[in-house]
Amino acid sequence: MKEITSAEFDKEVIQSGKVVLDFYSSECPPCEALAPKFEGLANLYGKDIKFVKMFRQQNKELAEKLGVKSSPTLLFFDNGNQLSNTLSGGIKRSDIIYILDNMLTTERAKEIKSHIKPTVSEFDVLILGAGPGGLTAGLYLCQSKINTVLIDIALPGGQVSTTHEVSNYPGFINPQPGYMLSHNMSKQTKLCGSVYKVAVDVTKVDLDKKEVIIDEFETIKAKRIIIATGTSPNLMGVPGEKELKGKGISYCATCDAKYYGDKEVVIIGGGNSAVEEADFISKFASKITMVHQFDAFTANKQAQEKLFANSKISTLFEHEPRSFVREGEKIITEVENLKTKERTKLVSDGVFVFIGMKPNISMFKDKLQLDKWGYIKTDEDMHTSMSEIYAVGDVISKKYRQITTAVADGTIAAIAIAKKLD
Ligand SMILES: Cc1cc2nc3c(=O)[nH]c(=O)nc-3n(C[C@H](O)[C@H](O)[C@H](O)COP(=O)(O)OP(=O)(O)OC[C@H]3O[C@@H](n4cnc5c(N)ncnc54)[C@H](O)[C@@H]3O)c2cc1C
Repeated sequence: MKEITSAEFDKEVIQSGKVVLDFYSSECPPCEALAPKFEGLANLYGKDIKFVKMFRQQNKELAEKLGVKSSPTLLFFDNGNQLSNTLSGGIKRSDIIYILDNMLTTERAKEIKSHIKPTVSEFDVLILGAGPGGLTAGLYLCQSKINTVLIDIALPGGQVSTTHEVSNYPGFINPQPGYMLSHNMSKQTKLCGSVYKVAVDVTKVDLDKKEVIIDEFETIKAKRIIIATGTSPNLMGVPGEKELKGKGISYCATCDAKYYGDKEVVIIGGGNSAVEEADFISKFASKITMVHQFDAFTANKQAQEKLFANSKISTLFEHEPRSFVREGEKIITEVENLKTKERTKLVSDGVFVFIGMKPNISMFKDKLQLDKWGYIKTDEDMHTSMSEIYAVGDVISKKYRQITTAVADGTIAAIAIAKKLD
């Protein structure tokens, strides 16, 4: 693998056959997460495809010319032609392999794969999920000099990273952008010395053997596991939802609200998330219709008062969506009045759904005792029904799911483990 500058671009990339070029930056956690994967793949595919890196800040002009808008970005070239595939952000090893394999013949790609050597590493504690719960456990364990690895399918930070503003995390007088709070939490844990394996594919979780396989070939063993995998948004299961997910139906205001400047939006839901995110979306959208199944919102009173004072937002209580259809640029949401059964069509530019969450437990749900909603049962030390398996944060059975409660759970599990190891 070679570090190049824009002056060498023609020789090292355009005139060099098959090339993958990594535009990276300093102070860039996703770039740090990519670096070992890029190096590993350079060793594996290096005979067939050239791997080069370029420091984006010092080669800005070329980066812009090539359409690079964020770091890291991987660009692929074949005989001087830039391929349409581009990867950026939390790049997974499997996504790179998919493109590299397509640049080679099937036989050659197979042969290269046959050279992959499985690896095994061992830690005292393995934390699955690097949201506030996992990161806090990681920090406490690290400060107790306990050898800890954090594994996440995405970049560290969890749901806080996509929350536009957090105003109730103690210690900050002004509301904090969610991504900043999660960035600081992650940096603090990493600086302490915890090992991160993030933006990886979790291939298998074996709680009996206390091992997790990532990216197919990397086995990570530990004496104890903390599950901190949080929750994911519930889907409505309404016709059209699956087809339009990410194409007009969104579950993340921070990610997508900015695309609805001066546009009309429908929001489904009436709890804290729906009401708080509606306020944020109204900074962009010109009109919002909130559809909620009950006759009143269940969000906290302060958030509701703010919402009712917002002239851009109107409400449709006791209504539920029945279908979503795209007509040209518009999304048609058919809603049913739960009292009269009458159906009407709402025309909007996009739909946001905030109707609660479900625990991320699919990889180990049969092993652990769960409550009737599928959340993991723990004792007061955050220990689950399985020996040396702990669980913290939103994934556990409890009444209130907040950053502060996830952080508290992470603290408890880590201290309990540290005391045991003492
Ligand atoms: C829109 C919205 C706004 C919110 N606003 C606030 C607020 O203002 N204040 C507040 O206190 N709380 C807020 N919350 C709640 C808060 O974000 C959560 O309570 C908190 O993030 C829970 O932390 P956690 O670590 O348990 O889980 P998460 O933050 O969900 O993190 C879980 C992590 O596990 C990873 N993961 C999932 N599955 C796997 C797997 N199989 N293997 C490895 N990793 C996996 C995920 O990628 C994620 O990084 C909000 C939530 C939402 C959805």
